Amino acid sequence: MFPRGDAGQPGPASENGPLPNVPPLYQSVGYELTDLAALQLAVDGGRHLYVRHGAPNEEAVATLLSQLEARGGPPELRVEATLFSSGMAAIEAAVMAVLDDRRVGSRDKPPLVVMASPIYSASRSLLCALANRGLMTLHELEVPDTAAVAAIAEREPVALIFCEVLTNPRLRVPDLPALAQIANQHGATLLVDSTLATPLLCRPLTLGAHLVVHSATKFLGGHGDLCAGVVAGSPELIARVRAHRQLFGSVLDPFAAWLLQRSLRTLHVRLSRQIENATALANFLSDRAEELSIREVIYPGLPSHPDHALAAQLLDRPGAMLAFTLKSPEVARRAFERVRLLRRVASLGDVESLIMYPAATWRRTLSEKELARFGIAPGLLRISVGLEDIADLCADLQGALRPE
Ligand code: PLP
Repeated sequence: MFPRGDAGQPGPASENGPLPNVPPLYQSVGYELTDLAALQLAVDGGRHLYVRHGAPNEEAVATLLSQLEARGGPPELRVEATLFSSGMAAIEAAVMAVLDDRRVGSRDKPPLVVMASPIYSASRSLLCALANRGLMTLHELEVPDTAAVAAIAEREPVALIFCEVLTNPRLRVPDLPALAQIANQHGATLLVDSTLATPLLCRPLTLGAHLVVHSATKFLGGHGDLCAGVVAGSPELIARVRAHRQLFGSVLDPFAAWLLQRSLRTLHVRLSRQIENATALANFLSDRAEELSIREVIYPGLPSHPDHALAAQLLDRPGAMLAFTLKSPEVARRAFERVRLLRRVASLGDVESLIMYPAATWRRTLSEKELARFGIAPGLLRISVGLEDIADLCADLQGALRPE
């Protein structure tokens, strides 16, 4: 007989319990059923059955995130959330949950999706891929052009409006209440990717959006050590999103959920320090723009940002991302290679400051024309600001930007 060993048996008894705020990790794939009644209850969703249907660590994180997303909203706002193995899996499930609704589109006319660009390049590629497979018709507009979204919705039925709050890398802010009004008036679903804002800075569901997605790989996880995604919305929509996850299997591993549980306990402190650093760095670069050959500093907290006023209205604080354009692309490329403290990593939201060169990163997914249209100039550098000492960050960039 295969030995069972001690695994799965309770550990040694101790009078001293573990810290109550360090949650246990339930890595179990299946749940042992006491009897047939327990099986029937589990099949109906009243108890745990199998990890792909939902598991305790994932559910604890989902509950916390749904509370954060509902914060400040009207008392009747009911929010649930569900987690995924990546941000992309979350976006795909949210989009498909809307498209799967029998009320949208018809056999010979696929549902119309309006994408308020720029959006994350992989999200854009995903929507284009779904459109190429005939699952939707895609209409691309620019973020501030709310009037154009209204005009399309007047002309024909729109199933989904997809936008990001704090776009990447120019950190534009869509007029979420206006988009929500258009969506509600025309029976469309407004889906907002709020990865760069997090629910601490912006809660789109309280502003009228129907679904919110995050790459939890970024600020929510925050330590560069986990990949996860989240979708939040009404219980009815989330039930559809969960059903999609169960079927397609993009479930979050319990250990990654546990890491995320750990990370969320420090989110408010991390983000607060990151925003303080981002504000100080944006001011430092603006004040020395001439000396450092900087053409523009892009940060919603600066009055020069085109959405400064809207950001102040819709976001609690201006976020921890910034970008700047050098007068010469050569200086940008040199600075990217010269930084010593900032890390050259194609991600964001980490406790460490990360620098990226978007024109090089996205040259495979966006054409030259699209890069120019989305304002991704060859001299632009993006920084996700971390927790370091601000004097060290300023010195690192100043050193990297110095003339030859
Ligand atoms: N949404 C935004 C705004 C992102 O920046 C990213 C990744 O960079 C994603 C979604 C996708 O997230 P993930 O990498 O966790 O799949």
